[in-house]
Amino acid sequence: MNPTLQQDLKDIENILEKVKKQGIDFLNNIDIVPTSTNNSITTDRNLNNSGLGAVAALEEFNQRLAPLMVSQAGPRYWGFVTGGVTPASIVGDWLTTIYDPNAQATNAQGGVSALIEIETINLLLQLLDLPKSFLGGFVTGATMSNFTSLAVARQWYGKQIGQDFAKNGISVPVNILVATPHSSSVKCLSMLGIGSQNFTRIKTIEGNREAIDIADLEQSIIRLNGQPFILISSAGTVNTADFDDFVAITKLKEKYNFWWHIDAAFGGFAACSPKYKNFVNGWENADSITVDCHKWLNVPYESAFYLIKEEHKNDQVETFQNSNAPYLGDPLENFSYLNFLPENSRRLKALPVWFSLLAYGKQGFQDIVENSVAMALQLESFITQNKNFELLAPTRLNNVCFTLAGDHNQEKVNLFLTHLNDKGNVFMTPTVYQNCKGVRASFVNWRTTDKDVKIAIADLEATLLEYI
Ligand SMILES: *Cc1c(COP(=O)(O)O)cnc(C)c1O
Repeated sequence: MNPTLQQDLKDIENILEKVKKQGIDFLNNIDIVPTSTNNSITTDRNLNNSGLGAVAALEEFNQRLAPLMVSQAGPRYWGFVTGGVTPASIVGDWLTTIYDPNAQATNAQGGVSALIEIETINLLLQLLDLPKSFLGGFVTGATMSNFTSLAVARQWYGKQIGQDFAKNGISVPVNILVATPHSSSVKCLSMLGIGSQNFTRIKTIEGNREAIDIADLEQSIIRLNGQPFILISSAGTVNTADFDDFVAITKLKEKYNFWWHIDAAFGGFAACSPKYKNFVNGWENADSITVDCHKWLNVPYESAFYLIKEEHKNDQVETFQNSNAPYLGDPLENFSYLNFLPENSRRLKALPVWFSLLAYGKQGFQDIVENSVAMALQLESFITQNKNFELLAPTRLNNVCFTLAGDHNQEKVNLFLTHLNDKGNVFMTPTVYQNCKGVRASFVNWRTTDKDVKIAIADLEATLLEYI
């Protein structure tokens, strides 16, 4: 064995002790770690010939790289849709690394860790009150979950017109209908060879909504004249957390032949609360659903899952079958994730989720969801009461979308936000909503309290005074 490795192996207790202590220090101070930084590095470090050993590498990390870390997992990082890490999720994440299984199979001598993943999916179905007719698995993020779902949808589509796209490639245009696609779904259309421009954009409901206009959807379906299509719908748009009407879409599904995908990356967690569950009524009738865990479930990156109806298992296996593992018979016997999703070797991403669900239960996630919405409403209430700001849409759930009041301030919005973010106490992202430049604050972190909202409000007011 290499001597440095041998030394590290002997020293493992000391090494992990140091990391644990550093981790505790960071987590105990996450409230005061800045949410933005101007620190940088030159990225051309030379690789040394003989190794430093883990302790010296940690010292260099602390000196050069740790200053690049901002409080993204903290209570006031409201940019994008950014979750944090709960104690139980850290336990699961650390153990995933330590055991380091390659999660593929459920009954192979070489490892059956995929059983943990299947159990976790079953727990998630219970959390979200979805039926067992979905099969699910973990991927890195909602982008890959959308990709996995839409890849199976593509295979299904081919079958409707007598083609096997997985074997022969795409030979004809694929009909895609969507109203307010997340950018990642459009990226998936590009990655899947369907084409990022090749979708029909359905109108949204009138009156400042991002949800699909069902009448316009049905008109577009009728124009397809009986051809199959794939509908990409939204449970939670990023700007205004708007939801398509899944009860109405269910009715359309009884009349027309289409694959129904729901991007529920964060909005799916509305199902955790009796107050907001109505947003997802009817979603159980979808063919596939995308949900992110590194957002509202507050587990570390990278963690998301797809749910695809079991009835589509053949389309799924045709899409992802690994050519070295030909299937005989039922793909669910001798089940392996290898043949159900894009990756082959895989981290056991389910374990941090498993720990979180057992540790906090249904009530824990109901509380997180309801608290996030309450915090969003507190910020909204400040925005509506301050004449310098203007709400761009009502806060339906956890995302607050607002701008500087007055058309003449439109060109100042991005500068305002840059200065706000520079203070390092709160982080939000720029957006464009209905041709208007705005700011978006998304609440999904379990740590956020009204104290944090007050800190953000103080900085919003200060930034107004300084720059507007
Ligand atoms: C965040 C998000 C995505 C992309 O998720 P990643 O985890 O970043 O890949 C897709 N759809 C919606 C609605 C999202 O909010």
